[in-house]
Amino acid sequence: MQAERNARWVEGGSKTVVSRKAEVGPDGLRFAALWTRPVPAATINTMATASQPNATTILISGGGIAGLTLGILLKERGWNPLVVERQAAPSRDGYMMDFFGTGWDVAERMELVDAIRAIRYPIDDLKYVDDAGRAYLDVPLDRIRRALDDRYVYLLRSDLERVLLDRAERVGVVVRYGTSIRSLTDAGDRVDVMFEDGETAAAGLVVGADGVHSRVRALALGPEESFARSLDGRVAAFSTPRAPEVGRSVVLHEEPDRLAAFYPISDARMQAMYVFRDDDAPDFVAPDDRLPLLRREFDRGGWITSRVLQDLDDRTPMFYDALTQIVMPRWSIGRVCLIGDACGCLTLVAGQGSHMAMAGAYVLATELSRRPDDHASAFAAYERFFKPLVRRKQDEAARLATRFVPSAGSWTWLRRLALRAIFNRFLLGLVMQSLGGRSVLRGYDR
Ligand SMILES: Cc1cc2nc3c(=O)[nH]c(=O)nc-3n(C[C@H](O)[C@H](O)[C@H](O)COP(=O)(O)OP(=O)(O)OC[C@H]3O[C@@H](n4cnc5c(N)ncnc54)[C@H](O)[C@@H]3O)c2cc1C
Repeated sequence: MQAERNARWVEGGSKTVVSRKAEVGPDGLRFAALWTRPVPAATINTMATASQPNATTILISGGGIAGLTLGILLKERGWNPLVVERQAAPSRDGYMMDFFGTGWDVAERMELVDAIRAIRYPIDDLKYVDDAGRAYLDVPLDRIRRALDDRYVYLLRSDLERVLLDRAERVGVVVRYGTSIRSLTDAGDRVDVMFEDGETAAAGLVVGADGVHSRVRALALGPEESFARSLDGRVAAFSTPRAPEVGRSVVLHEEPDRLAAFYPISDARMQAMYVFRDDDAPDFVAPDDRLPLLRREFDRGGWITSRVLQDLDDRTPMFYDALTQIVMPRWSIGRVCLIGDACGCLTLVAGQGSHMAMAGAYVLATELSRRPDDHASAFAAYERFFKPLVRRKQDEAARLATRFVPSAGSWTWLRRLALRAIFNRFLLGLVMQSLGGRSVLRGYDR
């Protein structure tokens, strides 16, 4: 019903703004009510005047990985993108990510590899440890690099964002921080947009690159619940003083329904990630409630997992979210299109979300540039090529999710045997190729 209403609204070019009253929290958005009112006359047009729509002006909601990638590629190809980002400033922290495969391919195509290689953390190896801190698996990082032909780094999400932002600034992409779209109206030959502060603009096209809890998606295609696929888990991540036990290793500790990973990022600090299964844990948790929740979940955690949480400063900013994929039958409607997690979130289980976010932006920019006067065909070509690739990775991640964190019924010896096989020096190359080492854009035009 909602999708139908939105379809008519967008496709029909009605002069009515349909929007939802939004409660904006640091985690994303919860829509509380729906209201309808007439579009006020455009007061400020930052992109094009309402009477003179410019098809090459594109408003991108979200200045993260997908949004910045798209902004850069479109600007370089002669378009006029404006990126609006809800956060007041670029993010500086976040969580640690593996970067390789498809992401590396796009970075090469964009000539960003030197900047990415320059990101270095004091990491020599990856270890799995037991409750006593004894390593039952120790994999030199060089082995992983070699398995991926030296096209692999650990980086923070904010590192990748910074590399993209540097390029965006250099090529002249305008990025506006502290701004969010409140409502959208497809007027046929343009999209009329109203921002949270009441400012209005007209854009040729609007792209939602605003992540797993996308507002553009909610405004144009329907509520999150319609597209959410739960992988039955929650994740929290934060930066904290480095525990001496971690040293220069990425260290993982597993127990039933619990996984903790620690990444050294300097001599003094480490990045921590906690993943757990608990059907009673909420999907959305207010910032002040996150650490108490995590302390309860890991109160009997082995090795240093409980201690790190007990010692953590209560004011430490903490990322928290449910492991939720976004699976949608269509990614665009009228002049509005989605990229990245907004339409195809894989979750951290895949370890390739940033790669696919960049690749989706690359394909959309390429298809739009091939058909600058026909966005409908460009959107269709983008979806035709890229959606099946995302869907396959989503299904792989959904299958892997049941084994990503051990369950109470897991046989420890069997699990450790499997981990040893995966990281075996003779098999790792093959394993990494099947886990995202091979770029999905191989053969796709540069
Ligand atoms: C703990 C964790 C570990 C991960 N590990 C890996 C990994 O190892 N490798 C990997 O490739 N991927 C990993 N991922 C996935 C990866 O981070 C995402 O897939 C990727 O960031 C998606 O990029 P995006 O640009 O679509 O969304 P995001 O990176 O989420 O960016 C969305 C942007 O939109 C902004 N925004 C949100 N709402 C609005 C709004 N209303 N208006 C304006 N702006 C808005 C946000 O502030 C943000 O800047 C991990 C994810 C998590 C949570």
